[in-house]
Amino acid sequence: MTINRKRDVMSGDNCEESRFMRMALDEAGAARRAGEVPVGAVVVSEGKVIARSHNLTITLNDATAHAEMQAITAASDWLGGRYLTGCTLYVTLEPCPMCAGALYWSRVERVVFGCRDMKRGYMLYSPEMLHPGTQVEEGVLEDECSEMISSFFRERRKGNREKGEAEEGE
Ligand SMILES: [Zn+2]
Repeated sequence: MTINRKRDVMSGDNCEESRFMRMALDEAGAARRAGEVPVGAVVVSEGKVIARSHNLTITLNDATAHAEMQAITAASDWLGGRYLTGCTLYVTLEPCPMCAGALYWSRVERVVFGCRDMKRGYMLYSPEMLHPGTQVEEGVLEDECSEMISSFFRERRKGNREKGEAEEGE
């Protein structure tokens, strides 16, 4: 397995990588508007987007409804097979161990993520969770991906504090 940091790699497809990550960020924005933790994903096959999804754990009352799980299901459905051969999954945040396990089973060719998740990312456990044939790249639109998730939790903490203060005042 190879892990590249995209920002260190000067290649012609940088633009393409950013374009797909931008779509994943749009999905994360949709999650955010729905009050969900803002994580978005897209799956690309032969240069074409075949699935786009975002975190739906609250909407679906399903703790496993992470963006990647939705994307894997949608892409497999589109392809008509259980393996995401030749596909790249773009996700704004480093996958958690559950999603890394699902990505293992999907045999996805590449995983590109925007920023690391220092609390729940699979790399905290083992980079070997993904399939040995899966290439990993990180750091595409890293600052924007990082801001998307950190601003959400910042605002949520602020909201909780204000609520707490109001309740204390009552
Ligand atoms: Zn996950």
